[in-house]
Amino acid sequence: MKSPCPTPYDVFISGSGPAGSLLAIHLQRFGLKVLLCGTARRFDSLEGMTERGVLALRASDCKNALASLGPLVLRQARWSGEQFGGNQEYLVQRSEFDKALWQDAGEADVDRLPGRVDRVIWQEGCWQTTVDKQPICARYWVDARGRQAPANAMLQQAPGILGVGAWWQGAATTPAAGITSFADGWCWYARLPDGRTQMQMFVDATTHRPPSRAQLRSYYLQLISQCDEAAAIVQDSHLLIEPYVRGSGLNYSEPMPGPFHARAGDAALALDPLAGHGMFEAMALSMTLASCIRTQLDRPENAQLAMNFYRDRVHDEFWRLARTGRDFYQLETHWPEHSFWSRRQHWPDAEPSHPAPEPGIGQIEIRPVSINGYIENRQVVSCPDTPRGTWVVGEVPLVELLEYIRQKGGVPARQDLEAFCAGSDWPMQSVGAAITWLAQRHLLDLRSD
Ligand SMILES: Cc1cc2nc3c(=O)[nH]c(=O)nc-3n(C[C@H](O)[C@H](O)[C@H](O)COP(=O)(O)OP(=O)(O)OC[C@H]3O[C@@H](n4cnc5c(N)ncnc54)[C@H](O)[C@@H]3O)c2cc1C
Repeated sequence: MKSPCPTPYDVFISGSGPAGSLLAIHLQRFGLKVLLCGTARRFDSLEGMTERGVLALRASDCKNALASLGPLVLRQARWSGEQFGGNQEYLVQRSEFDKALWQDAGEADVDRLPGRVDRVIWQEGCWQTTVDKQPICARYWVDARGRQAPANAMLQQAPGILGVGAWWQGAATTPAAGITSFADGWCWYARLPDGRTQMQMFVDATTHRPPSRAQLRSYYLQLISQCDEAAAIVQDSHLLIEPYVRGSGLNYSEPMPGPFHARAGDAALALDPLAGHGMFEAMALSMTLASCIRTQLDRPENAQLAMNFYRDRVHDEFWRLARTGRDFYQLETHWPEHSFWSRRQHWPDAEPSHPAPEPGIGQIEIRPVSINGYIENRQVVSCPDTPRGTWVVGEVPLVELLEYIRQKGGVPARQDLEAFCAGSDWPMQSVGAAITWLAQRHLLDLRSD
């Protein structure tokens, strides 16, 4: 098809946060011609990244982003009056981190154009827009503008959360991070060795209307005064910037609004900050999306399969995260009558967040899986706790393993397994994990009908 633009990109990505940057890097690796456009973040913030996020960065060869990570701390939690240590996490100063990701994308040979993206339209067989007076056209458009992406495709929304935060300066100290509950919500703080602390207060967006700019500081200080631990953390510090407000609730938008258009990261699935791994989720989703887009562009016969795969993945993540969040909110029992807690302790439903394995119930089915950067149909094992099916555990395809076990008349002795693994691509440790996975579900003798 004739293109009116001088630069017919395969994929144009608006928004260069973790989702847009990792997507660009993976698509470029697949040999697609990618343009990444973005503006700098509106304000700086300090966030926590767990080891899973670090693994995603390593898998994407993001050396600069890895080098930008701050100290590793143990996230302390004070919840329902109990004090306990949570996950370890790296403190991430987002302005530095996002700049480093932009650099990583450049080093991966992604074409980049700094600038604001407004309206993108489908015209004459391609997506078209203008960024910094430069006309852009592409076969595929991904919106990765985070929570600033237009909200017109919202499918589900948790009770809204208002996040009010600011930076404080105190004396140089040991780095730390933590969350604390209080009657009207919860707070997250993170402290850098140079004494800068970020303190964010999260409250219900229905009962707490955002105050005017002029009243924001006193409103923020009043919220801190309601939470003894928050007040103690900043008592010898002074405010470095005026507080800001961020919409922070869990929500989920149509991830594939059209055949050549997707939403990535927060634009598709924005997490409740309580989850503490929004960056990881955004990056992991982008790595999946890269295979889906490549399939849509290179293998049109599997395009619908790829679209459904991505839609299902986002849908399932939303419900899993919604129910996991509900379970965590239920652990706070001090203020059941306060609207912040009562609105979250029963939403979205009463279904378990992690369905338990049901012994002996499972079947072999054909389902789409992500393999070698494409989405393809494969035989998988589906059971009540993994209804979309599991294709591999470790690096071992379950159905092939079941066939091997069947041929041997049962699980072979360890030395036979080791001899088999030595002559195959399957690491012994992964085979052990796959056998355990099947044994826990009493599925070692599962056959396809
Ligand atoms: C209060 C709060 C606390 C959080 N704490 C944590 C935490 O501790 N740990 C964690 O892992 N996650 C945390 N998160 C979640 C995390 O910030 C997001 O999940 C993550 O940043 C999503 O990445 P993204 O790339 O999808 O979006 P973003 O990071 O929002 O990136 C979007 C990018 O698009 C750009 N952009 C926006 N509009 C335009 C436009 N019109 N044109 C061009 N570019 C544009 C933005 O400048 C930005 O660079 C928190 C979120 C909130 C709200």
